[in-house]
Amino acid sequence: MEKLTSKLGIDLGGTKIEGLLADKSGEQLKRIRVKTPGGSYGEILNAIANLVSELATIPDLPVGIGIPGSISPTSERVRNSNILALNRRLFAKDLEKTLGRPVRVANDANCFTISESTDGAGKEANSVFGVILGTGVGGGISINSQILEGQNSIAGEWGHNPLPRITSDASERRCYCGRTNCIESWLSGPGLSKTYKGFSKKDLTAEQIVKLYEAGEEDAIKTFSAFFDQLALALSIVTNILDPDIIVLGGGLSNIKSIYTETPDRLEKLVFSDHFRTKIAKAKHGDSSGVRGAAWLW
Ligand SMILES: [Zn+2]
Repeated sequence: MEKLTSKLGIDLGGTKIEGLLADKSGEQLKRIRVKTPGGSYGEILNAIANLVSELATIPDLPVGIGIPGSISPTSERVRNSNILALNRRLFAKDLEKTLGRPVRVANDANCFTISESTDGAGKEANSVFGVILGTGVGGGISINSQILEGQNSIAGEWGHNPLPRITSDASERRCYCGRTNCIESWLSGPGLSKTYKGFSKKDLTAEQIVKLYEAGEEDAIKTFSAFFDQLALALSIVTNILDPDIIVLGGGLSNIKSIYTETPDRLEKLVFSDHFRTKIAKAKHGDSSGVRGAAWLW
């Protein structure tokens, strides 16, 4: 039953918007998922407003929302979002106006990392690197259960560094951010589709490729072998700099079981150490970790 102490969270993603109403201990009261409208900024605001009104009836209940991208600490506008309609918008203010409720906005990977370091796979760890492998690729850092924001509010934003070495094909990949060969252009769902197309000449979604991989299809196996190499390369940078106790993976591609058997051996070879003890774990709260962390923002 909804109370004034209930928590309301929204996870705005490239393909879906998820809403969660939870009690103060985090138990789910209601959860709804809708498709992200592909159109205008106004449509996105309306979709969130509809979701919130379905979840909560207490008018003053504040909302925490996780988004791809982040809020610039100087302009308070959204930047770096792969939902392009959000960029340069005063999203928190606009959403407060639309909802008539207090709103807090944070990076979605940070929300995910809050959830997993509080009572998820990273609960026992002092330092956690949370990774989202979904429509986009993001990261968040938690030290002693506190999110590291950073001087520019970009701590953990690792998806838009270039992948150190291209392993599946020689062609460059342009990223929406204007750079080339960003980690996101290889390790996201759309990135995986491009790698698969490089081998098979076929356009398939990440979901379809995962099914083929599990069925043992040759091009899908090549695609995932490249993917595990690329993931290990990308994580080796983080490990050499941050050396986290645990790396927790979330997002659609984190559901592939072989990630947890194939990546550690590859990563061990790349890390500058004589031993390798870093755990790579699947998010305990699965798909709902991001929305849980968003609800925790208040
Ligand atoms: Zn980029």
